[in-house]
Amino acid sequence: THQIHIVGGGLAGSEAAWQLAEAGFRVRLSEMRGIEGTPAHKTDDLAELVCSNSFRSDDPERNAVGLLHAEMRALGSLILRHADAHRVPAGSALAVDRDGFSAAVTQAVTAHPLIDLVRERVDGLPPGPAIIATGPLTAAPLAAAIAGETGEDALAFFDALAPIVHFDTIDMETAWFQSRWNKGDGKDYINCALNKDEYLAFHAGLIAGEKTAYKEWEANTPYFDGCMPIEVMAERGVDTLRYGPMKPVGLDDPRTGRWPYAVVQLRQDNALGTLWNIVGFQTKLKHAEQVRLFRTIPGLQNAEFARLGGLHRNTFLNAPRLLDHEFRLRSAPNIRFAGQITGCEGYIESAAIGMLAGRFAAAELAGTTLPAPPPETALGALMGHITGGANAETYQPMNVNFGLFPPMPEAKKKERKPLMAARARAALAGWMGVAEAAEATPAAQAE
Ligand code: FAD
Repeated sequence: THQIHIVGGGLAGSEAAWQLAEAGFRVRLSEMRGIEGTPAHKTDDLAELVCSNSFRSDDPERNAVGLLHAEMRALGSLILRHADAHRVPAGSALAVDRDGFSAAVTQAVTAHPLIDLVRERVDGLPPGPAIIATGPLTAAPLAAAIAGETGEDALAFFDALAPIVHFDTIDMETAWFQSRWNKGDGKDYINCALNKDEYLAFHAGLIAGEKTAYKEWEANTPYFDGCMPIEVMAERGVDTLRYGPMKPVGLDDPRTGRWPYAVVQLRQDNALGTLWNIVGFQTKLKHAEQVRLFRTIPGLQNAEFARLGGLHRNTFLNAPRLLDHEFRLRSAPNIRFAGQITGCEGYIESAAIGMLAGRFAAAELAGTTLPAPPPETALGALMGHITGGANAETYQPMNVNFGLFPPMPEAKKKERKPLMAARARAALAGWMGVAEAAEATPAAQAE
């Protein structure tokens, strides 16, 4: 019999299964494709890439995604190994031959003597040790069972992503800290003032801008509490935004001492204060259009974005509220979650969380505890978003990015990323030593 049950053979579930099996534990891996499809997957292979064939930047010096790749290679990731083996030319990005890649992952998993791949749809939370890695398109019966355990309001079926800006790219000579009517501690919001001409041009840009279409199976996307795309609100009338997210009342432009014509507000997005989201600006505008248009906002002319706006079908938990520091459900600690359902975003991020969840579970089955990777590493920074720094009230999915790492304000801006990468390498090496010692305990491995 198996020692752990993994539900979902996507990027996260395949990686988690591999880590557990390599640690010597017998795994049941349940994947419904083969019996029943999802609206996005086209094949029955494990770890299918549903859209782009790219794992994004492979530059470990200047890009947090590239750094995450490097860390996962160092830890023996199944997904990275087969991505590397099926690489296609893509400049500094890691792109793969999607069919070759998924076929190789499927082959590796099915050939592993300790993994039993079972084609079945799982409709309830397993009673024993388990990892749920069913992704953004989790089948409805299981989603209902999860919501039953966590409460309806803790499981979302759509995301509503407001763009997020790196604090050190906001021009604070132009923008200013103030809460409306001076409530709060005065540093809760950053404000950017627009005069009438700037506002009208911005409004026109929202209406004219090219939008991403909803997928067929995203039709009837509900626009619930305050999650309406900014351009849909703009279409309702030229002043609608000035009575909504761009309301200027109670905000004094320090340059004039008066309320501006319109205001864009940013709110702190992580505990470190390195990331700020543009309040109410969830949008289906194309990414390039967002960058162009949002940089016309005074104070954001040089903004760099940690995440751009979006709105998609996406099943995800309110992880900061529900999960402990090892991705265990606080209310049912035999259940771990991994992958996109935890509120990370992206193929590689999903695989990374699958890898960590697999390792945490393996340590627990062995009767030991694996310490979390330090926040200076890409793995630790990404984890921090899920189980650490994010605000549970406004929790939304996130890619890995340097804004999630402890800041290095003393470093010159140009040198910051390579220095953060070097700090990450040192921290990872230290952690791997500790992890190896923790994992070496020869307790209850597969008999
Ligand atoms: P998945 O890879 O989706 O794996 C979950 C698996 O669980 C699936 O195989 C599913 O069949 C199975 N499953 C679900 N419910 C059950 C059940 N009850 N019982 C048994 N099995 C079940 N990220 C990017 O980086 N780049 C992109 O271009 C990109 N495009 C995307 C496009 C779409 C349409 C969507 C929905 C997401 C996209 N993502 C993209 C986001 C994300 O990276 C992927 O969804 C990624 O596959 C998530 O990995 P995962 O392992 O969490 O989930």
